[in-house]
Amino acid sequence: MVPHDRNVDLHMHSSASDGVLSPRDLVARAAANGLEVMALTDHDTLDGLSEAAEAASDLGIRFVPGVEVSVTWAGETLHLLGLGVDPQAPLLAGALREMQHSRGQRAQQMDDALVAAGLPSVLSQALGYAGNPLLVGRTHFARALVARGVCGHIQEVFDRYLTPGKPGYVVHNWARLSEAMAWIQDAGGTPVLAHPARYRLSETARWALLQEFRTLGGQAIEVSTGSHSREDTRRYQQIALQWGMRASRGSDFHSPTESRCDVGRAPPLPDGCDPVWAYW
Ligand code: AMP
Ligand code: MN
Ligand code: MN
Ligand code: MN
Repeated sequence: MVPHDRNVDLHMHSSASDGVLSPRDLVARAAANGLEVMALTDHDTLDGLSEAAEAASDLGIRFVPGVEVSVTWAGETLHLLGLGVDPQAPLLAGALREMQHSRGQRAQQMDDALVAAGLPSVLSQALGYAGNPLLVGRTHFARALVARGVCGHIQEVFDRYLTPGKPGYVVHNWARLSEAMAWIQDAGGTPVLAHPARYRLSETARWALLQEFRTLGGQAIEVSTGSHSREDTRRYQQIALQWGMRASRGSDFHSPTESRCDVGRAPPLPDGCDPVWAYW
């Protein structure tokens, strides 16, 4: 069992997806920042886990193998963390491999859309930024467009081109919530709804999402995250308490220069929260 008061960060990215640090360098940063327990949760891949686990063992940090699965629910993209998954579990690993192929196809469509909007083609550069070309995503395109001088920083690229309704945004069908839950559960992991305040859902839809998540066996939501404002954190603390759900904490760190929140620096869980790690 992990005691409540440990410095725990259960959401971060390495160069295996759209983070910039290698898994080993990410673990070194976590250790330098005083983390005692960390999860690596790359988008739709388990590729960074073995390197990170080895580094964590070298540095005396407890390592939780994780993943952040992209999901389409009611037309909106959601992110579902799987914490404590077995990287060898065949159902999860196989499903993620298929998702990676569809990511590769989406990259070509994104490039076409950006070119149609009058921007230069940056597909090859974006692929170059992705450690694994099949894990190419919007962040890699954003970095490439900044390097080309099209925008000053990656937030600007997202705001002008890469968010829903903008010219470089490609609608994509990710996994269904029920499938992603089943993959994570089959791999022995705990599903956690990531940064719930970030989704553009009506109150009714938000309620329906939590209901469905619970029906599928979901017991935990991210309350404290680098992607939430202080108000969001308070709101989801209340929701977690109301719904009797466990709470998670994670920085959602991607890069020393791009991320708002460093590894291990998300606010502590608010009082009254039931930490998801207390059950491990
Ligand atoms: P993808 O899975 O390729 O659609 O990329 C999603 C990733 O893009 C997220 O995990 C974030 O790292 C990044 N991202 C999404 N929306 C934004 C935004 N509005 N501003 C900055 N980064 C974003
Ligand atoms: Mn990301
Ligand atoms: Mn996310
Ligand atoms: Mn994330």
